[in-house]
Amino acid sequence: MSKQFDVIVIGAGPGGYIAAIRAAQLGMNVACIDEWKNAAGGAAPGGTCTNVGCIPSKALLQSSEHFEHATKHFAEHGISTGKVTMDVATMIGRKDAVVKQNNDGILYLFKKNKVSFFHGRGSFARAVDGGYEVKVAGKAEELLTARQVIVATGSNARALPGVEFDEVNVLSNDGALAIGAVPKKLGVIGSGVIGLEMGSVWRRLGADVTILEGLPTFLGAVDEQVAKEAKKAFDKQGLKIELGVKIGEVKNGKKGVSIAYANAKGEEQRLDVDKLIVSIGRVPNTTGLNSEAVGLQLDERGAIVVDADCKTNLPGVWAVGDVVRGPMLAHKAEEEGVAVAERIAGQHGHVNFNTIPWVIYTSPEIAWVGRTEQQLKQDGVKYKAGSFPFLANGRARALGDTTGFVKFLADAATDEILGVHIVGPLASELISEAVVAMEFKASSEDIARICHAHPSLSEATKEAALAVDKRTLNF
Ligand code: FAD
Repeated sequence: MSKQFDVIVIGAGPGGYIAAIRAAQLGMNVACIDEWKNAAGGAAPGGTCTNVGCIPSKALLQSSEHFEHATKHFAEHGISTGKVTMDVATMIGRKDAVVKQNNDGILYLFKKNKVSFFHGRGSFARAVDGGYEVKVAGKAEELLTARQVIVATGSNARALPGVEFDEVNVLSNDGALAIGAVPKKLGVIGSGVIGLEMGSVWRRLGADVTILEGLPTFLGAVDEQVAKEAKKAFDKQGLKIELGVKIGEVKNGKKGVSIAYANAKGEEQRLDVDKLIVSIGRVPNTTGLNSEAVGLQLDERGAIVVDADCKTNLPGVWAVGDVVRGPMLAHKAEEEGVAVAERIAGQHGHVNFNTIPWVIYTSPEIAWVGRTEQQLKQDGVKYKAGSFPFLANGRARALGDTTGFVKFLADAATDEILGVHIVGPLASELISEAVVAMEFKASSEDIARICHAHPSLSEATKEAALAVDKRTLNF
């Protein structure tokens, strides 16, 4: 006998579990299926984000930052310590505990919102009159039926062609977050968000880190001025980044990994490392979904094809998050999940792709929303730019971190904010003000006229807005 629901959500990452909760809040009877297992074989909802992505990476970034502060910056505050050591097993244990708190939190939220959770793999069985049958293969096999199905099956790390992840020497994000001891030499292929964050963790703990990047430009999607400032800081920290390389043969042996590559000048090089992290992007995941059974359309990348409202080619089947087009970000997945639940309930859920913030949690942090200066030039938009350095911000000086700046880009005629770019301390938190401003179509003058607490890093945001009209007060 099949169990009847109004909505079945397949996948309990940020896209799926948020969609399930929102649908339940709107009065629907919801099932959410997820197959992720913790080390003990139990349910671990939260997807990539909670288990091997956003959360554990930030836990390790925090631990490694404490270590770097203790070894390099405490002395300037007059704090002396004995020899500071890092017990990697404790750090990884703490990270695992943080992950578990989040897994348990989601299970609690499911209970609170009366979402029925099923641990196992969900796959389409068949279309039935007015809906779909979905099979759950867990400890037992169950059959669920609903009129509406939301697919939120996420993504997997992309491997280098011919080089398998063994998660011992050649690591995806899974292995990179569970290295048992600081490697002497660490290689990273790909200088995107994940490569930079993971490279930073192990560099702070003492690894000699080399990042190899195929593209000739560093952080091509980021505002050029910001990317330049960040590169300068990473160089100073000793993070070696080689751009424009062409990766050749990668040999994974007992003693480590040997990477043959041509540098930007075309010269043959070799990098020998103890561990190699491959972070060259992620591929949408529909493994085991049995999409063929119902004729769910995928594109050539394997992503589920959806329209602007996350509707697939099948009536009543929706897809959200990493498994569809658009940026692979947890908050984008969440917003789509909420919007789809609201559309199913007959409301007008909406996601504004123009105001999705991007963050790289390195030191300095990098965060932005809206268009970059190079995009505005390319699009022929007339704009004004203003920036303010953290060097001139009192709170940044007190913190002892004056790297970077806040930069505003505003329409030359209307002054509407078109983009805000931040490199520096707590950029991840500061960017929210810019997101709110852009969502409300604010002008740079609006931000410039708002009272900001003193002393705070957010004063740099106000000053950058003032800089658009060349009237900074503190610089
Ligand atoms: P996922 O989180 O991938 O969840 C999909 C879930 O579906 C999984 O639990 C999976 O087990 C389950 N599933 C798949 N198929 C089935 C099936 N057939 N049956 C049952 N269950 C199934 N994003 C940010 O916004 N900020 C960050 O700081 C950030 N840091 C990251 C760091 C790393 C190292 C990585 C790898 C990613 C990071 N991301 C970050 C990206 C973020 O993790 C993803 O964008 C987000 O997890 C996508 O959510 P999702 O719900 O679409 O998919």
